[in-house]
Amino acid sequence: MENNIVIVGGGNAGMQVADSLRKGGFDGPIDMFCAEPHLPYQRPPLSKKFLEGKLEEKRLFLRPASYYETKNIHLHLLTKVVSIDRQVHVVSIADGRSFPYTKLVFATGARVRRLPGTEGLGLHYIRGIDDVAALQEKLEPAMKIVLVGGGFIGLETAATLTRLGHAVTVVEAMDQIMPGLVAPTLAGYFKQVHESHGTKIIEGVGVDRVAKSDNGYAVSLGDGRAFDADLVIVGIGVIANTDLAADAGLAVERGIVVNEFAQTDDPDIYAVGDCATGMHMRFGAPTRLESVQNAVDQAAVAAKSILDEPTAYDALPWFWSDQYDLKLQMAGLSRGFDDLVVRGDMATGKFSICYFKGEQMIALDSVNAIADHMAAKRLLAAGTYVTKAQCADADVPLKTYL
Ligand code: NAP
Repeated sequence: MENNIVIVGGGNAGMQVADSLRKGGFDGPIDMFCAEPHLPYQRPPLSKKFLEGKLEEKRLFLRPASYYETKNIHLHLLTKVVSIDRQVHVVSIADGRSFPYTKLVFATGARVRRLPGTEGLGLHYIRGIDDVAALQEKLEPAMKIVLVGGGFIGLETAATLTRLGHAVTVVEAMDQIMPGLVAPTLAGYFKQVHESHGTKIIEGVGVDRVAKSDNGYAVSLGDGRAFDADLVIVGIGVIANTDLAADAGLAVERGIVVNEFAQTDDPDIYAVGDCATGMHMRFGAPTRLESVQNAVDQAAVAAKSILDEPTAYDALPWFWSDQYDLKLQMAGLSRGFDDLVVRGDMATGKFSICYFKGEQMIALDSVNAIADHMAAKRLLAAGTYVTKAQCADADVPLKTYL
């Protein structure tokens, strides 16, 4: 039988598997199944330029329709894979048809965590194009909007909606916004910038209850405070889509368990991106990352393995977030840091935070300091030793130490 690949999921990760396979010389059939009706698209602009109405839908698409035809990638839009038979090597879709595979890749991504007890209330979430379209339909001038969750989704959306003239309140259950993502000092800086633009930030107390009121919603916090809102948007994290893999008998631990080659314990099945908990050589521990970088790099690792050129996954994680005029770029993972050094003057709006564990820099978050980010990516990837004093001296470019 001819080798053929089935990719379940059409986000950044799924798209990258297909692209890397073709670039690597694979010329057999590729079937890619996407639950949504849209061509595979990028999600980062959804909470920013797309929500603001400054980016057309077609600009979100990772590739034009012609790409799939030219590359002979069979794209099945609006088609969910409902089961997998690992013995026979076939996947089945809802209308009963089945498709054979020699290698199968899960790129099923993640779905939003719903705010408990709010089913049917019409709260908004931001994960896909249709979510943003539904929100845009409800927006009227100068609304009172509550954002539940002060992670990237909550804060980016808050900045966009404040800029559009709405009165926005962000409620974050933890003691700081972007908890677990950035140091308190950086969170404090972002909070103050949000507030200077008129966004209200409430930290350290969660949204307990949301109820319909005559004109909108009554939002109650854990400390008894309550206020009205015209709209409520929820950004309280995501859950990896692992049901299909679990039903097929594969190991799942918050994500589909894979090794450093993105391979599950079934050698013919891979998982990549948000849905995968993978062995990461850089951390030596199972890690599940939710980022474009991880989707793209882990997909390339899976494709290499399928092409019989196995390469262990050890790419440096990096992330970014745009809020107002702040470009936050994060290189490495700061979790577990025990000291930090501020590089540059925070008051200028251009600076970096260098995170240390012992004497080793493990991550660097930069704000409008692209040169620091670019150099840090290379320093961290190579594990180059840079002292705290060197980091603190913003007059010497970090690239000097490469
Ligand atoms: P997130 O980063 O997990 O942040 C959600 C926050 O909401 C958490 O701090 C959570 O606290 C808090 N929360 C939970 N329940 C709450 C409640 N009842 N009231 C108030 N706060 C509550 O998730 P997200 O912002 O929704 O983002 C979803 C995914 O999209 C993530 O993977 C994110 O990385 C990705 N994304 C990335 C970017 C970017 O890279 N720029 C932009 C947008 C989205 P607990 O920890 O206590 O639950």
